Amino acid sequence: MVRVGLQISATLENIDKLETSHPDYPFFVKLTCSNCGEQSDKWHDITESERVQQDTRNTAGFNFFMKCKMCSRENSIDIVEKSNVPYTADDSGKLKTIVIFDCRGLEPVDFSPRSGWKVFSSENGQSFEDVDLSEDDWVEYDQKNNNSVGVYEFASKFIKIKK
Ligand SMILES: [Zn+2]
Repeated sequence: MVRVGLQISATLENIDKLETSHPDYPFFVKLTCSNCGEQSDKWHDITESERVQQDTRNTAGFNFFMKCKMCSRENSIDIVEKSNVPYTADDSGKLKTIVIFDCRGLEPVDFSPRSGWKVFSSENGQSFEDVDLSEDDWVEYDQKNNNSVGVYEFASKFIKIKK
């Protein structure tokens, strides 16, 4: 089993914190099979509140399960409980791990942020739900603080985490 962390970086303007709407946020990823090296062209979603492939042998199931179409290996991924953390004003401009995946037989290689993010403005300003980061930039107007809030230059990468 390999642990893989999703790191994000962004420049935050007048924002206290940016976070996913976990545990219901779907992380859209592209995956590579560790056995045969097959990379999926399709985006797959991994959601902590969802469980698949539950049976008598594995009553808990998995957050994600896939049989590799090349080598037929049965692979799965779980989001590590409580590994979700917000990206805060102090992190602005730096890479930070915001979630960790337990990977069995496959690894995420690409991430698509899409929508479902939450933004909390500085100084208890307005908060925004279902923020869409698919353009890598997002700007809104905070009517409580009378200033603009923004997420700029969103970027991401995966890192292997040593235990
Ligand atoms: Zn495979």
